[in-house]
Amino acid sequence: MTTSVALLWGAATHTGARRVLNEDAYLAGGSVFFVADGMGGHDAGEVASAAAVDALRPLVTAEVVAADAVRERVRAAHQAVRTIETAPGRGAGTTLSGIALTEQEGEPYWLVVNLGDSRTYRLADGRLEQISVDHSEVQELVDAGAITADEAQWHPRRNVVTRALGAPEDPVPDFWYLPVAGRDRLLVCSDGLTTELPDQRLADVLLSEPDPQSAADRLVGEALAAGGRDNITVIVIDATGAAEAFERTAPRDGRAEDDEDTVPRADQRRGAPA
Ligand code: MG
Repeated sequence: MTTSVALLWGAATHTGARRVLNEDAYLAGGSVFFVADGMGGHDAGEVASAAAVDALRPLVTAEVVAADAVRERVRAAHQAVRTIETAPGRGAGTTLSGIALTEQEGEPYWLVVNLGDSRTYRLADGRLEQISVDHSEVQELVDAGAITADEAQWHPRRNVVTRALGAPEDPVPDFWYLPVAGRDRLLVCSDGLTTELPDQRLADVLLSEPDPQSAADRLVGEALAAGGRDNITVIVIDATGAAEAFERTAPRDGRAEDDEDTVPRADQRRGAPA
């Protein structure tokens, strides 16, 4: 079934205009697409994001990825980051956001994974929607109604993440299952993109650049031109081919909703799934 889904993708990363190192890393291949944004001082961030991506890399060989394999690799990524040696009191960590093409009862689904403030968006029917929910102090303030989403863009603590791979307390990743639709375009990116460009600009570029590599290059270029204060990483993924024949469907028999951390429901978009 899912073999009818063909994926085209493009990816780009840049150190940006202010940073010395690029502490972002990405994995794009097969049916898995992830961005990791490392942190920890000196070169620990670079090592952390690379370790996370390396732990996920075995997934690229599968045409359709088993959700359990993704969960197992995310746990392995956490352990790998935990073992990185850092200066006393620092600790390495990394965000992780992205997608794997998976199946539920023979139907193609995106499995979206998130920890931290890198992001996964979906462009469908001309509208861009942020699927992942940031694990960040400013997102908590937005959820509490203390600040608006616009104010969060410029908040002094906008870089503070509340969950990350490598954190001392075992992190709880968010997982979402979304039915694949034939013209879906997904965007996975680090915060170096989203702190420079508003969502509307992301949508404009994604709608006006049909080629995924051109779209990724242009997004990175525009983020640089807007200031490039952080490392910038972008992956654009298109579902194409015979996939256009199928419609977006609700999970059958409620199975997906029985999954404890499946979050297709609106009420859970705002919070932290178990
Ligand atoms: Mg960043």
